[in-house]
Amino acid sequence: MPPYAYFQKRFVPLSEAKINILTHAFHYGTACFDGIRGNWNADEEQLYLFRVKDHYERLLKGCRLLKINLPYSIEELGELTRKVVERSGYQEDIYIRPLAYKGSEAIGVRLYDLEDDFLIIVATLPAYLDVEKGCRCCTSSWRRIDDTMIPARGKITGIYVNSALAKTEAWENGYDEAILLTHDGHVSEGSGENIFLVIKGELVTPPSSDNILLGITRDTVITLAQKELGIETIERSVDRSELYLADECFFTGTAAHITPILEIDHRPIGNGEIGKLTKELQKLYFAVIQAKNPKYLDWCTPTYPKLAKIQHS
Ligand code: PMP
Repeated sequence: MPPYAYFQKRFVPLSEAKINILTHAFHYGTACFDGIRGNWNADEEQLYLFRVKDHYERLLKGCRLLKINLPYSIEELGELTRKVVERSGYQEDIYIRPLAYKGSEAIGVRLYDLEDDFLIIVATLPAYLDVEKGCRCCTSSWRRIDDTMIPARGKITGIYVNSALAKTEAWENGYDEAILLTHDGHVSEGSGENIFLVIKGELVTPPSSDNILLGITRDTVITLAQKELGIETIERSVDRSELYLADECFFTGTAAHITPILEIDHRPIGNGEIGKLTKELQKLYFAVIQAKNPKYLDWCTPTYPKLAKIQHS
């Protein structure tokens, strides 16, 4: 079974899904996308798609920012996604990338008088950051793009040049990931992750007004901390020096899951090991995304119809 894509209103093998080189979005970054995880539950032999509805709500908001008309309801988008994954037949963790884009073959920078198109691709994703060992970061010399430039609350493809510059600088200097500051010097987020600090038992994370993407993993962590551990998250601007003095620090993201941050700018965070609360949240989170916690099954969509288990005599 080759991986399939949903492309120009049809399900096709990924190798057949090709865009024209004049496609507007390819030249000008006029597209928005999302990243959804499918998590394999080996006990149930089922692949669970995590918070599909919330990902598509965010994608539709991005489309509004870019004046892209996506003629599907959230339910239809969810079902298209499930079908692409089902056809592809994966029995492992996967990553799904829906992308809405200006599909006209036209030269000229604008958002109007252009045709819109939509696709979904499915892929496996190697570990993005080391969830078990944690990562080492630097604050980036690149600043996070401001809402007055390109709104960071949309997952707009063009914005990712900002992330790519920061990630590359970090990588070339020997770090795993970059932490970007806002134009006025507050902590914003990682190149593809939100950031949390643990300060005296409290969870602190930058607010949406500090040019973050409102992450779905961020919201999952805020919800689990509150409902399962009784810890409220404080959303407020964070100074760079607070990173250095935090007791624990971690990234959240669909690709990154919950990744502990052990060191920032050569300074150990806390005692330089994975923190207690970070570990607790990781444990809760991994059970939830694999549909192993009955309280959060609403967040998990099964891909395959339930198959009757084969009886072995
Ligand atoms: N910030 C940025 C810039 C991202 O690309 C991502 C990944 N989508 C996140 C934060 C985390 O968002 P989510 O938890 O919804 O994946």
